[in-house]
Amino acid sequence: MNIWLGIAVGVVTAQLATLATTVYFHRGLTHRALTVHPAAAFPLRVFLWISTGMRAREWVAVHRKHHAASDTPADPHSPIVLGFWRVQLANAALYRRVARDGETVDKYARDLPPDRFDRWFFDRAFLGLGVGIAIACLVFGWKTGLVVSVVHAVTYLMISGAINAVGHTYGSRPHDNLATNGRVLALLTLGEGLHNNHHNAPTSARFSERFGEIDFGWWTVRLLVAVRLVKIRQFSRDTVNA
Ligand SMILES: [Zn+2]
Ligand SMILES: [Zn+2]
Repeated sequence: MNIWLGIAVGVVTAQLATLATTVYFHRGLTHRALTVHPAAAFPLRVFLWISTGMRAREWVAVHRKHHAASDTPADPHSPIVLGFWRVQLANAALYRRVARDGETVDKYARDLPPDRFDRWFFDRAFLGLGVGIAIACLVFGWKTGLVVSVVHAVTYLMISGAINAVGHTYGSRPHDNLATNGRVLALLTLGEGLHNNHHNAPTSARFSERFGEIDFGWWTVRLLVAVRLVKIRQFSRDTVNA
């Protein structure tokens, strides 16, 4: 077993899953700031399935509800309402509870009905996660593969929790909303940490506005635009190209 290799690959995989989440689930499907070509969308669906097990329409619905009811009792994961540590550590459980309440998906993700690939594969979270763990074990040997899987899962869950917990608690608030900008958090979350900017302009594909705000998600979007796999529908024009 090579524990350092396992840790490194686990962290990199979590970063890639965070990148796929911010570009495809968040900026693409949820806010329609960009459209992703099917040649890129399908591999992204497969990758998010085996690395997170999340259903796109559930993620989209919970996040749209978060924007519709930010930091009120109806917000699925407000640290102001539920407490910082509950959101930081139990973010996935909070998502799941709201996603399966029988109302949220019907109300907020009507534009994303399940297709045959969802029914056959992508709705089966444990099958996807099992495939992901099996691939890691085949590539790196079962012990290192399990280290990869555990490090990936913990890192991804902590990053997602931090976007919702830290991103509504610590940092600056240049715009008039309760979300915050954190430059270190932005580095760890591929731009998602510029959360105050995002709440101010949710349909912008770019979260960075000022010099020094690093949005790797936006850089990735620009790269995908250059190879014609993504089309931008909207982004803030009145900003510095950070
Ligand atoms: Zn938020
Ligand atoms: Zn959003």
